[in-house]
Amino acid sequence: IVSKMVDTIVLYPTQGRGHLVSMVELAKLILTHHPSFSVTIISYEAPYETGCTAPYIATVSSTNPSIIFYHLPTVPIPTNNTSSSILDIKTLSFEWHTVNNPNYHQALVSISRSANIKAVIMDFFCNYSFDVSTGLGIPTYYFITGGLTAFTAFLYFPTLHKNLTRNFKDLNEIINIPGMPPILAKNMPAPMLDRSKKVYQYFLETALQMPKSAGIVVNSIETLEKRALKAILNGECTPGEPAPVIYCLGPLVATDGSNEGGTKHECLTWLDSQPSRSVVFLSFGSLGKFSAKQLKEMAVGLERSGVRFLWVVRAPPPDENVAAVAEPSLESLLPEGFLERNRARGLVLKGWAPQVEVLSHDSVGGFITHCGWNSALESLRAGVPMLGWALYEEQNIYQLAIEEELKVGLALRKREDGSVSAAELENGVTELMNSERGKAIRERVMAVRETVLGAFCDGGPSQAALARFVEAIRRV
Ligand code: UDP
Repeated sequence: IVSKMVDTIVLYPTQGRGHLVSMVELAKLILTHHPSFSVTIISYEAPYETGCTAPYIATVSSTNPSIIFYHLPTVPIPTNNTSSSILDIKTLSFEWHTVNNPNYHQALVSISRSANIKAVIMDFFCNYSFDVSTGLGIPTYYFITGGLTAFTAFLYFPTLHKNLTRNFKDLNEIINIPGMPPILAKNMPAPMLDRSKKVYQYFLETALQMPKSAGIVVNSIETLEKRALKAILNGECTPGEPAPVIYCLGPLVATDGSNEGGTKHECLTWLDSQPSRSVVFLSFGSLGKFSAKQLKEMAVGLERSGVRFLWVVRAPPPDENVAAVAEPSLESLLPEGFLERNRARGLVLKGWAPQVEVLSHDSVGGFITHCGWNSALESLRAGVPMLGWALYEEQNIYQLAIEEELKVGLALRKREDGSVSAAELENGVTELMNSERGKAIRERVMAVRETVLGAFCDGGPSQAALARFVEAIRRV
């Protein structure tokens, strides 16, 4: 009997904005290039801040009706998880998928009643759901939202764990990892710093399991991070184990749609009135926040640079020793008179900007970024040079990739306590926007932009990798 059921691919993202957006882009990609497939994305209520995901899902559903969202039933939040630190969110994210496993299993069974599930592609935070899909005989792939350079560190992590006895956080040494620039031990991704943390164990187990999966989809381009790809495929990052199967299907970044609601954002109208390539844009991902003191120093540095700016400002994280006040105003967060004095050459937004549209605007000439991988790819696609200010997680590695591997940006130097001085910011902005070095970086970014834009052209590397991937899943 020949089955008439449609072939489907199930995507299981973690719900954080950056992770969800790239999964949605993967869904669009599969549907565009291989329309005989259907794609189902599993979604759920997360017990932590995810960065405006509900309106985003609503927009995607209405503009891309062929993407099916399967919403898992809501499960009760474990009472012992009340912290909102980023490390705790990572821990919870791993555990939350485990809590959801019975419902996820049910979802796969239910989907398979009306479709042939040819593959599951799951975020690496879903590691503890691997057995659910493989137990049902479904080929299971992992998804890496970051680039290949950071992925080498992740794959090599079990080897480092075996060879070292001390925590990275206590080591004042440079670590050499195949395929990436040398990195200070304490600049390794936060979940890998401390062996006593649960998340350390989760990362370790995930790193060991991933190469054993059907394959790993990475949000990069084979021709963008060549050194890292070579090291991975040669097996240098997984000594003693087979090299993993890699599919670089990037860039998986939104081309539109961050501007939910459909109306033109005020900042885009403001950018229309600024000279070409004159504005530096400051935005720090879905979670980036600064202390009140740091915000004031940033304001001073920006003002002194004399460069036009568009700055997304968020209230500082709550201080446990101070009673929470109502959402503070921009006036109270910035130095006195700052907004008034800079009215002609700067715009400050509270909380969130339509970043993709901003970066693509002709008036934007530089991007001060926390070096999130989506942000980096969006910047490269728009041809905007970057000034790195890594904040958390694997952003120190992305910053190295931006500055030293791809040479598409500069990086700010931090003080011992992790803060950046007003003078450092002033100099960094000036160098990026108004120097010979900045000009050379801009030229380099324009060349890299061609690589990014060419990924899905006929014969482009990501298009070829997608064809290989589809062939592999059709074979089963
Ligand atoms: N983003 C946005 N507006 C903002 C801040 C972030 O649209 O004000 C989007 C940004 O375009 C990117 C994503 O949120 O697509 C952030 O992903 P990234 O990987 O850069 O950082 P993360 O939030 O995962 O640390």
